[in-house]
Amino acid sequence: MDRHFEEIVQWAYSTLPQKIRDLPDFPGIQVVEEPPEDVRKDAAKRKNWPKGTEMLGVYSGVHRTERQHFQTRIAPDLIFVFRGPILRCAKGDLRAEVKRVVWHEVAHWLGHDEEEVRKYQNIPVLYAQKHLACEGSKIIASERERVA
Ligand SMILES: [Zn+2]
Repeated sequence: MDRHFEEIVQWAYSTLPQKIRDLPDFPGIQVVEEPPEDVRKDAAKRKNWPKGTEMLGVYSGVHRTERQHFQTRIAPDLIFVFRGPILRCAKGDLRAEVKRVVWHEVAHWLGHDEEEVRKYQNIPVLYAQKHLACEGSKIIASERERVA
């Protein structure tokens, strides 16, 4: 595995607001060379997926807003970052591209759909401000709200 690329992913993670990174259920971030065939096929079926677009990353798991506290987790929540497609698509600024992908998938994890995630690139910051302003018990109370 490409150490340099892994370090960039690590750096991209470190740019997220501390309050988001500190969430006990923050998903793992996994670097994978190429998106698996079935994931690619799934994406191609989506209505809003532009033809010929590479998949740079994906969030696999339950959206934070839709999760029930008693729910049994079968698979851990994971953010996949696809190295090959990112290297092919990043025009010059690899760091910026990796950061964009990581923030994008974290926003999905926070419960936002594709349209919102594309429109508001700073969702993790908004989420930290709106939902995580106070520590502790209030986090759970405000989880069902969404960032406008
Ligand atoms: Zn997306």
